[in-house]
Amino acid sequence: MTAERIDGKSIAADLRDKIAVEAKKLIDETKIVPGIAVVIVGEDPASKVYVASKGKAAKECNFHSVQHTLPEDTPEADLLVLIEKLNTDDAIHGILVQLPLPNHINESKVLNLIRPDKDVDGFHPINVGLLTAGERDKALVPCTPAGSLILAKRVLGNLSGKNAVVIGRSNIVGKPMAALLLAESCTVTIAHSRTKDLPEVVRGADIVVAAVGRPQMVKGDWIKEGACVIDVGINRIDAPERGEGKTRLVGDVDYDSAVERAGSITPVPGGVGPMTIALLMANTLTAARRAAGLSDLD
Ligand code: NDP
Repeated sequence: MTAERIDGKSIAADLRDKIAVEAKKLIDETKIVPGIAVVIVGEDPASKVYVASKGKAAKECNFHSVQHTLPEDTPEADLLVLIEKLNTDDAIHGILVQLPLPNHINESKVLNLIRPDKDVDGFHPINVGLLTAGERDKALVPCTPAGSLILAKRVLGNLSGKNAVVIGRSNIVGKPMAALLLAESCTVTIAHSRTKDLPEVVRGADIVVAAVGRPQMVKGDWIKEGACVIDVGINRIDAPERGEGKTRLVGDVDYDSAVERAGSITPVPGGVGPMTIALLMANTLTAARRAAGLSDLD
């Protein structure tokens, strides 16, 4: 059996199109233009690429988008002042601070200052609490797990009663992913670096979400026949077959062996990655609609 390839790129493109239409409607009906501010501190090349693609997606979605690029040695106090300013700026509905921040800046101090209703990354303790308490309709949910859930539901439909194994327990991916799957009435196991006999744990899963950061760690013979595999990992590895010094991106799952066992699987690139940016746009639209007193869209 060869697994169905879950085309995150095309699902994300459809979602962005839908968001652009809804943003236009909001603008026509209320004159409110969804606004997102992206803040980047320093010159990390990968961060710069991510920020550029977020800005591009925001424009395509008819949003107002501003980028604040601060030098690497920006004092923490200056960044906090900027966040305060964005918190009270009525044209801005979503604030995103690109991580990682330089070492001299306390990351949680910055993230916790972002107003929860503008926290489109969903990292503020209020949003974490709402999600954990099962009040997703009031929360802003982290983009990568929210996008991963859409992909799983696209192929499986109702997830109720499924056994889900999430590998990784970070605040950004693993924990919120587990909370979302639990809210869908899955039986959820969270695995991590201390988990005993991980292959055997994964073999019990109808849904596997890999968010580890270790290239091709999850092997095909760990996967239950027919399972849905969502590969969150983005890892750059050497690719001498492409020429000297060349590299390529791979996930946390060994795609070539897993595709022979799974029922469905996300590729890397082109799976979860594009969904993350689309969900950032969706969160910004949600924040703008809530600011206007409107209900969330489906
Ligand atoms: P973290 O490094 O914060 O967390 C990794 C998790 O994996 C930890 O909980 C760790 O366990 C666990 N882990 C590490 N080694 C093992 C092992 N051998 N067996 C089992 N578990 C292990 O990573 P993130 O959650 O931030 O990201 C995970 C991956 O997802 C990365 O590849 C990242 O690049 C990618 N990513 C992709 C995004 C996208 O848009 N597609 C967005 C965000 C991340 P422990 O807690 O015990 O240390």
